[in-house]
Amino acid sequence: MEILYKSTRGGGSPITASAAILKGLADDGGLFVPEQIPSLDRTWEEFSGMTYGEAAYEVMKLYLTDYTEEELKTCIARAYDSKFDTEVIAPIVEADGAYYLELFHGATIAFKDMALSILPHLMTTAAKKNNIKNEIVILTATSGDTGKAALAGFADVEGTRIIVFYPKSGVSPIQEKQMVTQKGKNTFVVGIHGNFDDAQSGVKAIFSDRELKEKLDSQGFQFSSANSINIGRLVPQIVYYIYSYGALLREGKIKSGEEINVVVPTGNFGNILAAYYAKNMGLPIAKLLCASNENKVLFDFFQSGVYDRNREFVLTSSPSMDILISSNLERLIYKIAGGDGEKNTALMRELGSCGKYRITEEMKKELSEFYGGYATEQETAVRIRTVYEKTGYVLDTHTAVASAVYEKYRQETGDSRKTVIASTASPFKFTRSVLQAIGTDCSEADDFVLADELSRVANVAVPKAVEEIRSAAVIHDHVCEKDGMAKMVCDFLGIDA
Ligand SMILES: *Cc1c(COP(=O)(O)O)cnc(C)c1O
Repeated sequence: MEILYKSTRGGGSPITASAAILKGLADDGGLFVPEQIPSLDRTWEEFSGMTYGEAAYEVMKLYLTDYTEEELKTCIARAYDSKFDTEVIAPIVEADGAYYLELFHGATIAFKDMALSILPHLMTTAAKKNNIKNEIVILTATSGDTGKAALAGFADVEGTRIIVFYPKSGVSPIQEKQMVTQKGKNTFVVGIHGNFDDAQSGVKAIFSDRELKEKLDSQGFQFSSANSINIGRLVPQIVYYIYSYGALLREGKIKSGEEINVVVPTGNFGNILAAYYAKNMGLPIAKLLCASNENKVLFDFFQSGVYDRNREFVLTSSPSMDILISSNLERLIYKIAGGDGEKNTALMRELGSCGKYRITEEMKKELSEFYGGYATEQETAVRIRTVYEKTGYVLDTHTAVASAVYEKYRQETGDSRKTVIASTASPFKFTRSVLQAIGTDCSEADDFVLADELSRVANVAVPKAVEEIRSAAVIHDHVCEKDGMAKMVCDFLGIDA
């Protein structure tokens, strides 16, 4: 069955998967969604015998229906290879009564590698299929994690260039070092004098600059985006939920068809939306637990049916979840609005103009399979310490938010179903906060000394991703003002500004 993609705002006619991946965002500002969510056509017994790559093919073939079998299998083989430090790609660790699905074994030790290691291949294949001769230029603004994962994914991928802008004084020392040491002759990293919003606005302005677009086109370039609203990032994320169910079955932890719960530490609502799609494809999920940190817009939304971003932005120890506008929620809103583009557009307009909207009672009823929870900074730190003291297993701060929310849920409801917790980052990415939670004095030491300390405490080797940057040379030292970003792009591409 062919699946086409349409905009959540209702505009335009449906397009193929490869065209949607190339475009990123629909022309009317909406997000691309499949016209219908396909159902799995393999049994759980079959999934239980599959490798990660095999499961990836079975899931992705149902969505990316204009890719040939060979194209998809090539993309999958290039993505899930020795860039990952374990052959299983996404191992499951049982600790304190839950199953932690470790999504951090890729190049940048965070879950964004799961999708960003395949997106470049899906995109270059899409360019070929759509007869695009231009080089694809990926423009990304990052608050830390996405930039590095996108750089690592696109580095030296033929037919692409990647440019990343980050706030010069707004990322952690390890995050900055990860980016400025990025190898690959098609990569370009720029620190801007401004915050993340400035970087984001600058990138949006470049995207909508028609004159620049034409100039680029005449020189054989076109822009595209690798951020989490691209459907090419959502689809690869559905895979690991399906895969993990097969793996639990293989290990005899669950019975075929047994309902499980899934807990996801959430920011932009991409990862948990993938779990929701997996459920709609036939994965037996009872509850989807959406875990927030102190920026608990989503918790309030699930409680009240009101999405309200008018609140103070809190900087937490789980920075990748410090988000007040969860862009991917639009795909859920569209679905619970019965696929009504106008209704969704009206709500998104309200969000744009007043910073909030309220869904109808009818829509709210459709959310009963979700449970919204949140954890404070204190609860998150206590959870890291508790799990460590009970089991020796060390959680990163984002995963700890999910784990803390799960504990509250378990106590509140007595629900004893088997539960998978999406473990989204290695603790080595947030060494300082993790060690502080465990009770180590970190005041003097630099981040690399702390990595060694964590290695001792957790009894795991320092990941390759951290070892590599310890002594790596700085390759990118470009800095610009907020209004100098377009010129930087032109300089890098060798065209006149
Ligand atoms: C991006 C990120 C998240 C949030 O995922 P969303 O898809 O934006 O909800 C959680 N944890 C980590 C470590 C991340 O990098």
